[in-house]
Amino acid sequence: MRSIQMVDLIAQYEHIQSQIDQAVLNVVRSSQYINGPEVKAFRQELETYLGVKHVIPCANGTDALQIAMMGLGLKPGDEVITATFTFVATAEVIALLRLKPVLVDVDPHTFNIDPDAVRKAITPKTKAIVPVHLFGQAADMEAIMEIARTHQLHVIEDNAQALGANYTFKDGSEKKTGTIGTIGTTSFFPSKNLGCYGDGGAIFTNDDALADEMRMVVNHGMKKRYYHDRIGVNSRLDSIQAAILRCKLPYLDQYAAARNAAAAFYDAAFADIPQLTTPARSSSSTHVFHQYTLKTKGIDRSALQAFLTKKGIPSMVYYPVALHMQLAYKDSRYPEGNFAITEELCESVLSLPMHTELKEEQLSLITESVITFIEQNI
Ligand SMILES: *Cc1c(COP(=O)(O)O)cnc(C)c1O
Repeated sequence: MRSIQMVDLIAQYEHIQSQIDQAVLNVVRSSQYINGPEVKAFRQELETYLGVKHVIPCANGTDALQIAMMGLGLKPGDEVITATFTFVATAEVIALLRLKPVLVDVDPHTFNIDPDAVRKAITPKTKAIVPVHLFGQAADMEAIMEIARTHQLHVIEDNAQALGANYTFKDGSEKKTGTIGTIGTTSFFPSKNLGCYGDGGAIFTNDDALADEMRMVVNHGMKKRYYHDRIGVNSRLDSIQAAILRCKLPYLDQYAAARNAAAAFYDAAFADIPQLTTPARSSSSTHVFHQYTLKTKGIDRSALQAFLTKKGIPSMVYYPVALHMQLAYKDSRYPEGNFAITEELCESVLSLPMHTELKEEQLSLITESVITFIEQNI
């Protein structure tokens, strides 16, 4: 059996090796390494895939969030509401721009930002909400967009983990995640659902003026060469990465289907194990399973991880420490115990290997090992 990885990028590459090798070689031989035709073509192909007017490629998913907030013209002291149960990038850029991160708790089933908690956190200084579509499933965008309309707030969807997911509104209309709010952002970090072979990111919007502004921001605040109308950053997607992403984008839906098949295998195997809660499915969003994350109850999670490691099975805790408990983001507004659901999730969640190349024999070994541990330890 092939060794089990959390994400098996080599196995995925082997299926498309000739395409990727040729694409990389073409860029190397073209000498158009920055903002070349590959970047433009990828931008257009992603716009078509998402059904969004503007895709602005940039250097990574963290930059994408920062550029979104700069593009919106948020000012120091403006409050931005986001979930405390997420990857740090979301809060990091808020703090970096001297905006005020306002953290809120999540839904215990979907792990996504709790709209009621968002409502309660709104003050006259609130300017934006940043829902994170955690682990591959959309937050409750119907409720969040309604709150945003009522209070005239911007919505920046952190779509780094859910590219390709579909959201269905109550009226039956459908949108890709990342194209619902004012702005959507994503990351092409290698382990993301659409990953390149280095760093990459992108910003999405349907707002023409905002797109113009963010195109200036990514390019040193410049519209006309060497005329800098505003303060910007330098954030670009390399041509080689764009060429790799062009090879992979046509497979993105197939990749999501492979992840869903692995998730279905896990779900079935764990359905009758009372110590495990399998991932909840939102009724309005498809799931692209960036992670397959269990909730454990009444078992020693680190002993389970050690047991799995001995059998050659990796597992991870996303995330062991919530943002409000991190040294850099601790704040007297959020004492320990403030976000009960998130704090319990940090103690109980466990993510199992999840990628596009998981084989049945691997999945069987993983599920049998988890169940053996539980049977031996209850
Ligand atoms: C990965 C990730 C990011 C950051 O992306 P980078 O490309 O690594 O900067 C931001 N938000 C979330 C939720 C992520 O998972």
